[in-house]
Amino acid sequence: MADRRALVAGNWKMHKTAAEARAYVAELLAALPARADVDVALCAPFTALGAVAQAAVGHGLAVYAQNMHEQAAGAFTGEISAAMLLELGVAGVVLGHSERRTHFGETDRALAQKVPAALAAGLAPILCVGETEEERIAGDTERKLRHQVQEGLEHVPRSRLGEVAIAYEPIWAIGTGRVASPEQAQEAVSFIRALVAAASAAAGRVVRVLYGGSVTPENAAELLALPDVDGALVGGASLDPGSFAAIAAAASTP
Ligand code: PEP
Repeated sequence: MADRRALVAGNWKMHKTAAEARAYVAELLAALPARADVDVALCAPFTALGAVAQAAVGHGLAVYAQNMHEQAAGAFTGEISAAMLLELGVAGVVLGHSERRTHFGETDRALAQKVPAALAAGLAPILCVGETEEERIAGDTERKLRHQVQEGLEHVPRSRLGEVAIAYEPIWAIGTGRVASPEQAQEAVSFIRALVAAASAAAGRVVRVLYGGSVTPENAAELLALPDVDGALVGGASLDPGSFAAIAAAASTP
């Protein structure tokens, strides 16, 4: 993983009320090992962000949102701006998760606005990319990743490219129990790093590329040890504080 600091982020999706989130954070903090070399984040639903931020304050645990609107304010019913997130103590935001792309029509065009808007506002973005099973079988994985990465980063100033974390999440591995093999993960993640390096060699060296897709305490160590994998975006296994703590521990270098 070179000298990049690992990031392990738990994506709760549409799970946990604010009260459940508070109880979770108390359990997680008790289970988390000392981890000077790993950033740990919880990506909570909007309604639990404030509760998680309050419970996590002073414990080195970051709170991320799962989406945001690219505009600062306006007639966008049901949407949430960066300023609204920052006010709650949110440090970052997941953008372009495949569930948002598939179920809610999130487009690469919108992401081209959202990623730089998050950065400009002071939020750390995690841009999610990944291929479907059909695309992988058709040999289309690299074309898909190139398109998603290049469009998502299109309006990010070169000097800030390295601040965007990119999560490689093969869609066929999300929530299915079918984890990518180490070879598949390393190949895709190093390809993503090369795409960033083509825009800025310096950014290619520092950008954090995460793997996501059925990460568990059992398979985390092998995936996190891959040379270009700088952490994990964890869905299902992050719902249990013990499992999530074990995955964060696997990211820590002994
Ligand atoms: C995700 O939601 O980003 C994810 C990777 O889910 P899971 O770990 O459940 O596959």
